Amino acid sequence: MIKNIYKFGGASVKDAEAVRNLADIVNQHKSEDILLIVSAMGKTTNMLEKVLANFRAHEGNLGMDALHEVIAYHDGIVNGLFGDKTNPDFAESIANLFIELWEKLQETDKPYDYQYDQTVCYGELISTTIIQEYLNQCDIPTRWLDARKYVITDDRFRAASPDWDETRLRISKLNDEHIRGLVCLTQGFIGGTNEGKHTTTLGREGSDFTAAIFANCLDAEEVIIWKDVDGLLNADPKRFPNTVKIPHIPYSEAIELAFYGATIIHPKTIKPLQNKGIRLKVQSFVHPEHEPTLIDGEHNSNDESIPSYIVKDNQTLVSITPRDFSFMNVHNLQIIFRVCDELNLHANMIQTSALMLSFCFDSDPQKLNFLRAELHDAFRIRYNEGLQLFTIRHYREDSGKDYLQGKRILVQQESRSTIQYVLA
Ligand code: ASP
Ligand code: MG
Repeated sequence: MIKNIYKFGGASVKDAEAVRNLADIVNQHKSEDILLIVSAMGKTTNMLEKVLANFRAHEGNLGMDALHEVIAYHDGIVNGLFGDKTNPDFAESIANLFIELWEKLQETDKPYDYQYDQTVCYGELISTTIIQEYLNQCDIPTRWLDARKYVITDDRFRAASPDWDETRLRISKLNDEHIRGLVCLTQGFIGGTNEGKHTTTLGREGSDFTAAIFANCLDAEEVIIWKDVDGLLNADPKRFPNTVKIPHIPYSEAIELAFYGATIIHPKTIKPLQNKGIRLKVQSFVHPEHEPTLIDGEHNSNDESIPSYIVKDNQTLVSITPRDFSFMNVHNLQIIFRVCDELNLHANMIQTSALMLSFCFDSDPQKLNFLRAELHDAFRIRYNEGLQLFTIRHYREDSGKDYLQGKRILVQQESRSTIQYVLA
């Protein structure tokens, strides 16, 4: 029975050294029944997005250059791991994956979201193929699973949602087939449509969600997200001095933090774990001996006294007013939110007044244009782009004062536990 799910993100497999470290961690725990969920290596997903953009712009040469960069990067890791002892069958399977990728890059007549999923998925497919080979060489018998046959989704490309019944049916079979002492390894972020024809993806940084999907369907005991930081911190250390680790928080608080933009956990990760009471740990792969952050169903009010600071960049603020001077009532809200729903547009902050609805969302010029076009007849819309949303959970009187220095506050909103600022 698989009881432990380990998720390794891009940073934890960014070079040969990192892959060796992953193998060390797995080796120390291999008596447990583990399933590994692994992302694309380093910044591969970004690189593949660039490759695809060039192919779609019919910039064939730039596209090939960018693709060669991806190949060279992975070659470097393969060399670092195996040197001249590279097994020819393995080398061939990696070459074949790149050929398949190249073929899918030709399909530029297909819709962008569709082609994105058919191509960007190779980051994960290649990364897990390399890691399987390495673990096997380290005498850690590893079984490679194609996540597209387990995580079954709808065909909303780039933002697919799991078909839970079908996914559960497929994943739960793993426990019957599972052989003790064998590590299972699969890709984060990617899934497949039911008939098995198309690859889908769950949205950027979706590997955490993959881990939660497998954990839920396997009734696992624990998920560990291995990170380059010591656990869940109360702020991004790149922006704020003196961050502290949050030792233990309930699921509900983790959802709040992820919702406001704490990037350490994908927002969709918590629900599948909470529903089955599966604990989540955020642990350092650099210092695995350090205590991780624990997220579970226990309420620990002590940790709630630690204020958390979350900044989301690239926000667009829209302010919508009915042209006929009617109230921003439920009827009007319903019209606006229906368009938002169609667009799959997630509001990070919402504020209403008698005549106005304001909300901000992650910059997306296409969605903004659509929203304006759809609502234009009945509403006047103003917008500002390039803003920041700054959220403080469990704020105290002067929390965030330093950060706000010199910034213009466009919107401010507070509840008992949370204060938010939209900043220019
Ligand atoms: N490789 C994907 C990304 O970078 C998924 C993930 O890492 O979670 O978005
Ligand atoms: Mg990642």
